[in-house]
Amino acid sequence: MTAPLDPIHPPARLGVLGGGQLGRMFVQAAHDLGYRTVTLTSSPDDPAAQIAHDVVLAPPDCHPGADLESLRTFAERCDAVTIEFENVHAPGVRWLGRRLPVRPGWHAVWIAQNRIREKSFLSRHGFPVPDWRPIRTQADLHRALELPGPLILKTAASGYDGRGQIRLDHPHELDPAWSSLNRAPCIVERVVPFALEISCIVARNPQGHSAVYPVFWNQHRHHILDVTVCPAPIGPIVAATARQIARRIAAALQIVGLLTVEFFVTPSGDLLVNELAPRPHNSGHLTIEAAETSQFSQQVRALCGLPLGSANLRGPAAMANLLGDLWFPHPPRWDAALAADSAVSIHLYGKSSAKPRRKMGHLTILDADPLAAEARARAARAALQPHKSSCPPGRSVSPNLPGSS
Ligand code: AMP
Repeated sequence: MTAPLDPIHPPARLGVLGGGQLGRMFVQAAHDLGYRTVTLTSSPDDPAAQIAHDVVLAPPDCHPGADLESLRTFAERCDAVTIEFENVHAPGVRWLGRRLPVRPGWHAVWIAQNRIREKSFLSRHGFPVPDWRPIRTQADLHRALELPGPLILKTAASGYDGRGQIRLDHPHELDPAWSSLNRAPCIVERVVPFALEISCIVARNPQGHSAVYPVFWNQHRHHILDVTVCPAPIGPIVAATARQIARRIAAALQIVGLLTVEFFVTPSGDLLVNELAPRPHNSGHLTIEAAETSQFSQQVRALCGLPLGSANLRGPAAMANLLGDLWFPHPPRWDAALAADSAVSIHLYGKSSAKPRRKMGHLTILDADPLAAEARARAARAALQPHKSSCPPGRSVSPNLPGSS
């Protein structure tokens, strides 16, 4: 077996638990470096499975109790394993980790996949978070009533893109809201009146070296990431602080691989950590064109114990997500988007059917002016649906923060 710090050289077989678009882009980056790839996922038509060299068909959250044969087959066919979503089965990751390098390790995944563990970890290490309380019991619920409203109740597990979240104006709405979530373990936190939302992506290799990308500014629509602009218009001090906090969280978690830290930025420039993802992130997709090393290439390097690449930007950029809504009422006009901006890069994930809210692809534009990049990305996306008015072209929101330019 490979010693922990020995690099894993091409053409080793890199496995990814999960077959979605993040896995697909990891596989593409691994192929660029000459690796063989294996994905464990439930369908051969999943985005990563379509292009990996080898597929093990099993649910990506499989565990030794139910799917021992699949995990065994996967372990035999891989030299190292990473993940593309955090809702994998942590004991399954631990089982794999006893047999081959699995990065990130099960413990970081176990913390990040549950909001109670995640917020407890962040609070215990002194990282800034919104005022919050865990809710597991009726006694917890009573203690949570001391938080002044407005509040957000979030299920501890399996919440994403705003699912499993209820906004409450007053603490007395907590009890019925918790019942509507079947009294599942939750956290409740104060609503942060943020000026904008940002994310930082850190790559960390087994030697403990890290590289942090410039800060991403994330704009959501209906709780789903809509547009990312980099660098974020937050001024150098807030940006440096965010990157330093992200690097320190990655070190405290001893993550090997990628860690995404999402923050709220308050109008006075304070930072509060919203959540962690121990993997590449939708906000980092623009690094494929805009950074000297993409987030997926860093994931390959970190997994294989190779030197990390530069996380510097080649230039400012914006990314617009392409959701399934764009397929209705008419399929997107790819020719129109390509004609609208000859510098646009379009990525489609190969999903066979479009559904509203489903992430089907994204597009990226580089421009010396980040807000011009944003306007151009929105315009290229709007060109896909010339008759739709819900996506106004060129809309650009400029936050007003101290020190932002
Ligand atoms: P999450 O799944 O925790 O990332 O939440 C999804 C989105 O809900 C975030 O991107 C924010 O826009 C919003 N949100 C979550 N928590 C809070 C909070 N404490 N205060 C204000 N907005 C929040």
